[in-house]
Amino acid sequence: MPKLIIDGKEIEFENGQTIIEVAKKDGLEIPHFCWHPSLSISGNCRVCLVEVEKMPKLVIACSTIAADGMVVNTQSEKTLNARNAVMEFLLINHPLDCPICDEAGECKLQDYAYKHSAGESRFVETKNHKDKRIQLGPRIMFDQERCISCSRCIRFSDEIAKENQLTFVQRGDHVTIRTFPGEEFDNPYTLNTVDICPVGALTSNDFRFQTRVWELSSTESICVGCSRGCNTEVWVRDNEIKRLTPRENFDVNSYWMCDHGRVNTWKNVNADTRIDGCLKDGEKISWEDAIKSVSDGLTQYQPEEILFIGSAFASNEDNFLFKKLAEKKGVHEVYFASAIKPGDADDILIQEDKTPNSLGASKIGLTGSNDNKSLSKKISDGKYKAAFILEDDLTRLEEDVIKSLQNIEFLIVQATNENQLTKEANLVLAASTFAEKHATYTNFLGMVQRVKPAVTSANMDRALDSMSKSRWDKFATTFDRWGRGKKYDSKPGWSILSGILNEMGEEKNYQMAEDVFDELAKEISDFNGMNYDTIGSGGALLKSFTKQEAETV
Ligand code: SF4
Ligand code: SF4
Repeated sequence: MPKLIIDGKEIEFENGQTIIEVAKKDGLEIPHFCWHPSLSISGNCRVCLVEVEKMPKLVIACSTIAADGMVVNTQSEKTLNARNAVMEFLLINHPLDCPICDEAGECKLQDYAYKHSAGESRFVETKNHKDKRIQLGPRIMFDQERCISCSRCIRFSDEIAKENQLTFVQRGDHVTIRTFPGEEFDNPYTLNTVDICPVGALTSNDFRFQTRVWELSSTESICVGCSRGCNTEVWVRDNEIKRLTPRENFDVNSYWMCDHGRVNTWKNVNADTRIDGCLKDGEKISWEDAIKSVSDGLTQYQPEEILFIGSAFASNEDNFLFKKLAEKKGVHEVYFASAIKPGDADDILIQEDKTPNSLGASKIGLTGSNDNKSLSKKISDGKYKAAFILEDDLTRLEEDVIKSLQNIEFLIVQATNENQLTKEANLVLAASTFAEKHATYTNFLGMVQRVKPAVTSANMDRALDSMSKSRWDKFATTFDRWGRGKKYDSKPGWSILSGILNEMGEEKNYQMAEDVFDELAKEISDFNGMNYDTIGSGGALLKSFTKQEAETV
């Protein structure tokens, strides 16, 4: 393998790699604004200039191909002087906005101004002021004078979103980006440009001025907006989600996520419609009474009179225990409703299946079909007198099918938020959302992925108080259980179902989601050998899927 030397260290590389790539792979960051590993090279910011022995001038590390025997110096006097000069140049017209800028705290320009600049400017003239509020598209606000013309947003739009919607106009210090006349910056992926904009020039309408970023905790999770399951970070302050950002996973979503997933899929977590504790015929009751009422109520019916509807929105753990519960009652067919939106997909990330776990539900043995016809027929048959519905409002089914459900004698609904069915249910059990629990979901590529609690429920606080130190260490993530903000009295689905199973005489005592998953992994062959540790941050593939299938992103 060829080798080069960077700052005295010998590093092996593959032919064709650039200096910046070789350095990055070895853990050395050469400063850069315009370079992004997933975009074409534009080489316009010049901050990655480095000195290469035997080359007369400094070269930009982002576009210079590494060569065997090359000796690179990223810290020589010549390099540092050039870097300082580039920083001074970029800051000439940049406004002193950090105290009011959303990007402050995660801004490359701010960071580099501390790390790589001389710390003072010789520029005494008046800065060139530009427009600070241009609505580029429905979700993005553009601050012209913060832009450093790196072209990342233009290249993202052209190369990743495949929409040529942005371009540079004007020249010199008047250069700016804009959309083509009469057009908006509007495609399903626009908000990724907010992430990759190295400064605060592009801000999200949804997150703008909500909080300072250093006041947020972040927790690894996945998006539940479709069967892709893009990897995310959930950002929380005062027990409220403030934003989602994509997390790198080359087997699932690369660096990106869609705008719908980022903006819409978590709003139910903090919504006024959350179910807060259990209800019996509309009246609040304790968890103990609710669980006893489910158990006693179901005892009144024969197996053929009870309908169990699981959910492609619920986790693997929840569906697994739901199936066990049905079997305990002698019911062997458990259904789930699909949520396919024909045509609402692309060859980037978005999938037609708008649930996060239909593959997991099927693998666990639940029955579902794309058109939901057989499920609707079953419900409308009129032979069921009792029904238990797990975490799905079923609004996709026709109105008269929903009416048939509402007319059932004994209706149990386990839900996170109020819906048509919770209003009619005899018993409502308050379930935690994806953001309040440990759980796994299986995406359409067969990748089993974890979510972790980013937001605390009232019940989680109680559970944590009684948890042993070793369990606490395993359970605790970055969420702030002592933070302010509303905490709902909900429980993870598996925990509610395990309580009901115990009430029905099942002796097994599941303490954590992980206990349920371990059993699932033993019983269902496709999950054999997996556990929360092997799934880790990046997911683990079902046994019947191959890596090639996962690499179709
Ligand atoms: S708006 Fe941001 S990403 Fe786009 S060119 Fe300006 S600095 Fe670069
Ligand atoms: S593509 Fe699907 S999983 Fe990914 S962010 Fe969008 S809705 Fe969420």
